[in-house]
Amino acid sequence: MQHKDIKKIIILLGIPGSGKGTQARKLVERYNYTHISTGDLLRALDSDPEADPVDKQMLEDMKTGHLVADTLIYKLAFAEIKKQLDDNRGVILDGAIRSVEQAKAYHDFFEKEDVLDDVLVIDIKLDNETAYRRLTKRKICSDCGHIIPFSQKNEDIMTCEKCGGVLTVREDDNDETIKLRLEEQGEKMIAPIAAYYDALGVLQTVDGSLDIETVDGTVIDVLEA
Ligand SMILES: [Zn+2]
Repeated sequence: MQHKDIKKIIILLGIPGSGKGTQARKLVERYNYTHISTGDLLRALDSDPEADPVDKQMLEDMKTGHLVADTLIYKLAFAEIKKQLDDNRGVILDGAIRSVEQAKAYHDFFEKEDVLDDVLVIDIKLDNETAYRRLTKRKICSDCGHIIPFSQKNEDIMTCEKCGGVLTVREDDNDETIKLRLEEQGEKMIAPIAAYYDALGVLQTVDGSLDIETVDGTVIDVLEA
């Protein structure tokens, strides 16, 4: 089935625990879009012997403790986005934009490529308190790593739906780590980015506090509207 009216550049915003990653995976499956992951792009650069030596050097610097330069991320991400769009395939950006400054850099790139009309930003809105409750209760399969998000429905599930393995609460999901993640990547980080996109008229907000299926349905409604 063709979804020709759907925007080609989907930017997902959401705090940890909002289900943003789950939605990104679903959209990749449903529309055959490409998930733009900066982590994957850096790994690809690392394993590509033909890559630009300057980029390689920046990556090596990063490995020795320097922060990844935004310029390197932009270069890799923009090249990948352009390649996908040229192939007439849409892209999902999830977690790539963590500041208004980065949002502006992406915006400039989209403008230069004349694809601003194809940008849609979906904010899967959730408050820090609800996210905290979810993150401290989600489970992971000890065998295959499958993650079971917290929901009323999943509360009593003890075995993995994929492989039958034993589910445990994630090790990194301890209070302090989660508090720190929500402090850094929570509402405080997302709100100005969402406001930036709202002012541009490309923001749609979805209530992320509802169960996954409902959020999923709402995201599709927003996309296919
Ligand atoms: Zn499993």
